Amino acid sequence: MLAVEVIAAKRDAKALRKDQIEWFVEGYAKGTIPDYQMSALAMAIYIRGMSAEETHWLTQAMLHSGQLLQPASERPRVDKHSTGGLGDKTSLILAPLVACFDLDVPMISGRALGITGGTLDKLESIPGYRCNLNEAEIGRQLQRIGCVITGASQSLVPADRKLYALRDVTALVPSIPLITASIMSKKLAENLNALSLDVKWGSAAFMNDKHSALNLADSLTRTGTQASVKTTAILSLMEQPLGDWSGNACEIHESIAVLRGEVKGPVRELSIALSVPLLVDTGRVDSWDAGWQKAEEMLDSGQPFERFRAMVKEQGGQLDQTPTPYPATTLHAPEDGYLQAIDGQEIGKAIIELGGGRKVAGDAIDPRVSFRSIAKLGDRVGRGDPIAEICAGNREMATGVLPRLMGAFRWSETAVKVPCLWERVSD
Ligand code: URA
Repeated sequence: MLAVEVIAAKRDAKALRKDQIEWFVEGYAKGTIPDYQMSALAMAIYIRGMSAEETHWLTQAMLHSGQLLQPASERPRVDKHSTGGLGDKTSLILAPLVACFDLDVPMISGRALGITGGTLDKLESIPGYRCNLNEAEIGRQLQRIGCVITGASQSLVPADRKLYALRDVTALVPSIPLITASIMSKKLAENLNALSLDVKWGSAAFMNDKHSALNLADSLTRTGTQASVKTTAILSLMEQPLGDWSGNACEIHESIAVLRGEVKGPVRELSIALSVPLLVDTGRVDSWDAGWQKAEEMLDSGQPFERFRAMVKEQGGQLDQTPTPYPATTLHAPEDGYLQAIDGQEIGKAIIELGGGRKVAGDAIDPRVSFRSIAKLGDRVGRGDPIAEICAGNREMATGVLPRLMGAFRWSETAVKVPCLWERVSD
């Protein structure tokens, strides 16, 4: 087979055959197909698209470029994936919560991407927490505790590691078949029985509009189902940060409060909405409503916090040493009005500017940098009311980002209709 023929076929909008896709991905992972030919094919896929069948084959070819995690116990294996947002800490809650229902959660997570936060970065704000467990360590921890949150080892989906880095620098990230194959190959490598997906839409999400998010959700769920994993998705709103806190260490503290059953609100609600399908799909409950009630009761019992604490300890973390946010500088409403929109891109960039995210690959992250949302979409505020807090290393740094932060808030004189936090898109 010739790489140039495969590229030309997709360039001319032809459907690729299974053997062509397998041969190309295998060659790329092994290094016999160079980056420039892979970029040409990825660009052709970006422009011409792929059918559901081609997307399935691409996912499978990427999945089989590496090894699969082997089951560690008889318990069903489940996980969730979010397409990323600001203040999204639901993984930290879901993993210990569903583990309390006798399910194994081998969660392979990622780091911050653009303005969206990364679960591993949040966990690494706990001194000593290790995100580089090997397969044997993952297996042992699952047997003992039922949940693991760690990074991908070198042997897991090597084709995605190469292709993702290439897409990042060739403007090839926002393509539904390429995103689907990238996300699903990594999740399928966990050898799951059930997967719950959170596809976000809004200013701080990958997909800015709901329609594109729905198309991505369809593609992800179809690919999971074709691979015999019970896959469900919800669409969730990312027009404002999720919950009260965005940053790294502050999100650990907010998650702990939810895990202890001390806090109700959107973080708890979304965590439950993502957990319930996993309880239903593994037969732990008979219905969505029963699952919801059981998840609420479990959070109220505080057991998920004990599970989280055990997981952190097993991975070397000293939870009680998690740093607190820097002292806060308050932002005040410039006028009377209803909060109409918050540009999450600007909030995310301010956090990065203050060192709470990376400006270049490999930057160290300052875990104490935090943004606290006080006013929420639709709220009526008076001029001078507190609307947010920024916690920066010093007052000068905080003052430097205030214009950016204030510019992120848009106000309306009339009441604002806020879209719902989440909705189901599949059964
Ligand atoms: N996250 C991934 O892992 N891959 C993508 O392509 C996009 C988001």
